[in-house]
Amino acid sequence: MAKICPKCKSKNIYLWLGGNLGIIYRCNDCGYRGPVVLEKEEKVKNK
Ligand SMILES: [Zn+2]
Repeated sequence: MAKICPKCKSKNIYLWLGGNLGIIYRCNDCGYRGPVVLEKEEKVKNK
């Protein structure tokens, strides 16, 4: 599954912080930072 920015739908998102307070992702395209990312299943064949 690919992580996708909820704001601009970019796949250019990466894990920014991870720790006791939770996980924060950051988007390279729009600068979004937050705990929410969309996950897109690119090819669903199994399951
Ligand atoms: Zn974005």
